[in-house]
Formats: sequence, C-alpha cells, structure tokens
Amino acid sequence: MSLVLVVEDEPAIAELVALQLRHSGHEVTCVADAEAAQAAVAARLPDLVLLDWMLPGQSGVQLARRWRADARTRELPLIMLTARVEEGDKVAGLDAGADDYLTKPFSPRELMARIRSVLRRRAPQALEAAVEVAGLRLDPATRRVRRDLHGSPVELKLGPTEFRLLHFLMTHPERVHSRAQLLDRVWGDHVFIEERTVDVHVKRLREALAPAQCAGLVETVRGAGYRLTANPALGPATQHAAT
Ligand code: CA
Repeated sequence: MSLVLVVEDEPAIAELVALQLRHSGHEVTCVADAEAAQAAVAARLPDLVLLDWMLPGQSGVQLARRWRADARTRELPLIMLTARVEEGDKVAGLDAGADDYLTKPFSPRELMARIRSVLRRRAPQALEAAVEVAGLRLDPATRRVRRDLHGSPVELKLGPTEFRLLHFLMTHPERVHSRAQLLDRVWGDHVFIEERTVDVHVKRLREALAPAQCAGLVETVRGAGYRLTANPALGPATQHAAT
C-alpha cells in the first residue's frame, strides 16, 4: 500500500482522482493549496504526489521547484496535473522536476497507468512486484521471504517492520540510506521516532536473515547509514556486525 498526496484545488477533480486511487488500493491525502501540501509532506513523506499546476497562492511549479531543492523531497515521485496544453508549459513542468505530466481532462485508466510507470521508476517499494537480490526473494503479495540454500528453500520469518525495511532496501539496493531517510521511507515519519529505532530493527532484520545465511547483505556504512548489497564486505568502511 502506498500513500499518494493529491494537491488539487478543484474539488470535483480531487474527489474523482482520490476515489480512483483508493479503488486501486492506494492510501490518499487530498489538499487544496501549496501550504497544506507542504504541511502534509512535512508530516509524512508520500510515495507519490499528484500536483496541480494552477493553485491559489503558490503555484504547483513553484512548489515542485522547492521540493526538488530540498534533500528530503528531492526524490519524491511527482506527476503534474494541468489544464494547459501548450508545449512550453509542459517543458516548464518537467524542468521544475516533475517525473511525468498529465493534461486535464484525463481518463482514470491513463492516470493509473502513469502512476504505475512513475512508481516503477521512482518508488518500486510501493508496488506489489516481487524482488530478488543475491538469491533472496521477497514477495509483497504473499508477504513471503525465502532463499534457496543448498538446493532447498528456506522460508524466513520477519516482523512487519523488518519486512517493510527489507522491502525498501531490496528495491533500492547498493545505495546508502541514512537513518533519517529510512524513518521517512519505511516508518513514514522522520520527526517523532528516534533514529536508534532504525538500529534496533536492522539488528532484528539481520537475525531474521541469518537462517538463510544472508545477514551480511545488510551493511552498516560508518557515519552514513545502511545499505543492502549483493556483494557484501568490499570496503574498509563497511562493517557487518556493527550497530
Ligand atoms: Ca487548479
């Protein structure tokens, strides 16, 4: 399940889009201006934003630029919605950092197809597709994690938080994620949870992975955070058991 933030000042369109998204299994928050959008993103980072171009006060393009300039929201998957059709506006929207662009009126099918495509590129953890790294396979649909060891499958038991953490790490492998980033992306809150919580769950995750001999896939990168790698223990900056 993924959280989609809809920033749209026309209630009829916002309602229609929200209905369609909820029907497709997404969680939805609707706001009608840039200020409320900023507050919603500060409270909880969404998996994707549908951003109307013309808003009262600050425009959608200005808001997109602001988000792209901020490290916390730089990677936020973003689809711009607009009634304008001029080519120049489309370029301005993409220049402002939008991942895609949808001109009103659009069909619900087109909207959902664009959302799936942007999520596939930018936030694969929000999709239900199975992922595999170094023989370790995680299936969000069945909530199963397994790995073949010496020819026989080992089924791993993970708590819900460890499962979400592993899912996020596996869909963003080889990249280092800070504790604050993990809180944002996995816990959905960067303000009210202590960063030490991340360490506790990483430790539990490694313990849960140990029966399949893949605890080493989750690396601690000193002074930076954590990373999931298919090639463990390559650099001196890396330490497995460190917490
Ligand atoms: Ca509007």
